[in-house]
Amino acid sequence: MRLVLVGPPGAGKGTQAQILSSKLGVPHISTGDLFRAHISQQTDLGKEVQEYLDAGELVPDEVTNEMVRERLAQADATGGFLLDGFPRNVSQADVLGGLLAASGHRLDAVLEFRIDEDVVVERLLARGRTDDKEDVIRHRQQVYRTETAPLLDYYADIVVSIDAVGDVEEISERALRALRDAK
Ligand code: AMP
Repeated sequence: MRLVLVGPPGAGKGTQAQILSSKLGVPHISTGDLFRAHISQQTDLGKEVQEYLDAGELVPDEVTNEMVRERLAQADATGGFLLDGFPRNVSQADVLGGLLAASGHRLDAVLEFRIDEDVVVERLLARGRTDDKEDVIRHRQQVYRTETAPLLDYYADIVVSIDAVGDVEEISERALRALRDAK
């Protein structure tokens, strides 16, 4: 299965991605995690992207797309994947479409996590990651609304939406059921 998760920062995508990736037997690929790993290992890429993460801005597309291209070319991702945090705008979605088409594939579904913005802001304030300061959180929500939410129209034919409020287990069951029903 080739799956993309879309939802505002703090919707619980990362937690669900881990569960769904093991249930569906495909690797979880999180661009945020990949960037944070580069930052903690102080690679050149990490140094280049740190300021964007700290400010809650999107890392430039060329940098992000190249990192994803390399990751998707690895052996474990050839049979399917679950992308968490990519694409984040329509131009990245075009690039992903091109990468997949080149190997004769396409996405099976885009799973949308629906949740109220006030709820996610509260959650993120409680999480306390370095980019979880209130002004940065608000900015990330705004970037989601303007840059990422348009993907829901872009992918309208394959979007599967679920209510992302509830227990972790309840939400993963909801997601698996919705994906099954959408087939
Ligand atoms: P996340 O862990 O998905 O919340 O991502 C954390 C941060 O990493 C974002 O605020 C961006 O700075 C950066 N980032 C993650 N994915 C992308 C992407 N697809 N395009 C650009 N920047 C990204």
